[in-house]
Amino acid sequence: MSFKENVNLHVDKSAKLLNFSDDLLEHLKSIHSLIKVNVGVVLDEKIHNFTGWRAVHSEHILPSKGGLRYSENVDQDDTEALASLMTYKCAIVNIPFGGAKGGLKINPKNYTMSELRAITKAFATKLINRGFISPALNVPAPDVGTSEREMEWILDTYKSLKPDDINYRGCVTGKPLHRGGIAGRTEATGRGIEEVIREIFRHKDIIKESNLKNELKENEIIIQGFGNVGSNLAKHLYNRDKAKIIAIGERDGYLFNKNGIDINALIEFYKKNENINNPKLGEFKNNPSELLELNCDILIPAALENVITIKNVNKVKAKLIIEAANGPISFEADQKLHDKGVFIIPDIYVNAGGVVVSYFEWVKDISHIRFGRVEKRFQEQKILEIIDLIDKKTNTKTDFDTIKNILHGADEEDLAFSGLEDSMRNAFTEIYKTRKQIKKSFRESAYYVSLKKIRNFYTDEGFPKR
Ligand code: NAD
Repeated sequence: MSFKENVNLHVDKSAKLLNFSDDLLEHLKSIHSLIKVNVGVVLDEKIHNFTGWRAVHSEHILPSKGGLRYSENVDQDDTEALASLMTYKCAIVNIPFGGAKGGLKINPKNYTMSELRAITKAFATKLINRGFISPALNVPAPDVGTSEREMEWILDTYKSLKPDDINYRGCVTGKPLHRGGIAGRTEATGRGIEEVIREIFRHKDIIKESNLKNELKENEIIIQGFGNVGSNLAKHLYNRDKAKIIAIGERDGYLFNKNGIDINALIEFYKKNENINNPKLGEFKNNPSELLELNCDILIPAALENVITIKNVNKVKAKLIIEAANGPISFEADQKLHDKGVFIIPDIYVNAGGVVVSYFEWVKDISHIRFGRVEKRFQEQKILEIIDLIDKKTNTKTDFDTIKNILHGADEEDLAFSGLEDSMRNAFTEIYKTRKQIKKSFRESAYYVSLKKIRNFYTDEGFPKR
């Protein structure tokens, strides 16, 4: 079964609960626009050809939003599946975007930085000239194999092709801060997933149902993938929640430490060596697939799709699975895990933090002002006046450190993370309440919440009400 078929089977299940008509369901599942490009780039006097796609799953709200992936495994089906997940994701966290995704079939590790820049600019030129990248219509962000570096190259390309677009900075999100990015975007997906996990531990009924230990830090955690999402999630869990992460997996193997891995040291090591094989931090085992079958409480696939399938599902021992990656569990494996009583928090909710903060970045770009810029000093002055008044009334003198602490108003990152936390927690409550009402899995409830909102939109647009 393809990735797209897997996603659509989940859609079918929840659409049935909502009594969707066949024609509406067909429209919902269809890809609204799609481009396939062949990019020829001259490198070392030879033409190198690359195939890329950008799929817009839904234009019901514009712009459509979704990452751009660089991988040898990119194909049209996966790109369409990932675009559809973006539509459902945005609806769940109430972000006013349609869903899109793009990809280039390439192994970025085989090219130098200047070659990658030339390839990215050629790819971006094709997409921009055909309306598949624009602040108003279609806005990419980093995904597997891309980062703020690629977003900056795309931004430069867009700016040179459309110099009269005053909102040009909004053509991509996840770009560097000095080019109109937002503080906190790189960490946003991982940080959002941490908020999801914290929210789970505020719900004692879920802890009981999934047989977890009461406190987050008492549970043993395994994370697959130490890229953007996996490493930032690990960093927040380790530093803010004192979580015990006993294994981290990468494509060549996994690092295991029953007492918990020192994540800060691993991040430093990974930056220098681009691998996690550090005997000082744990035992490295070069059997990557074994990772998913280890004993643990919480398993977090944060690398790629389709890693838990009918082939290995019976060996998975986790009590709770957090789908940090998109589509890590196949439809059939999902059924098996559900029957076994494994609690699964689905991708369309879990990893939505990236698009939430991308939305803040896009709003910042099109409003041309940094969050908090106008009111910060005014608020500080008012706080000083209040402290002064209290001091006078109580005949005391507040010390300098306390004043400094209180005065530290919200900076851009604080605001972005505050909005992120709010979005993730509100969405959790909505799915949680729906689950109680429809008595289905957390995944079906998440799709239910999403599809209901999208249907409402279509009905408002004049589609027949059914
Ligand atoms: P990334 O490229 O930064 O990291 C992926 C990591 O997984 C890499 O370190 C890679 O070496 C590792 N990996 C590859 N194959 C593996 C294997 N077989 N076993 C273990 N590790 C393996 O990508 P990312 O941005 O962290 O994205 C990871 C997942 O999260 C993807 O499914 C992506 O679509 C999803 N996601 C990312 C974002 C974002 O903001 N970056 C947002 C939402 C969803």
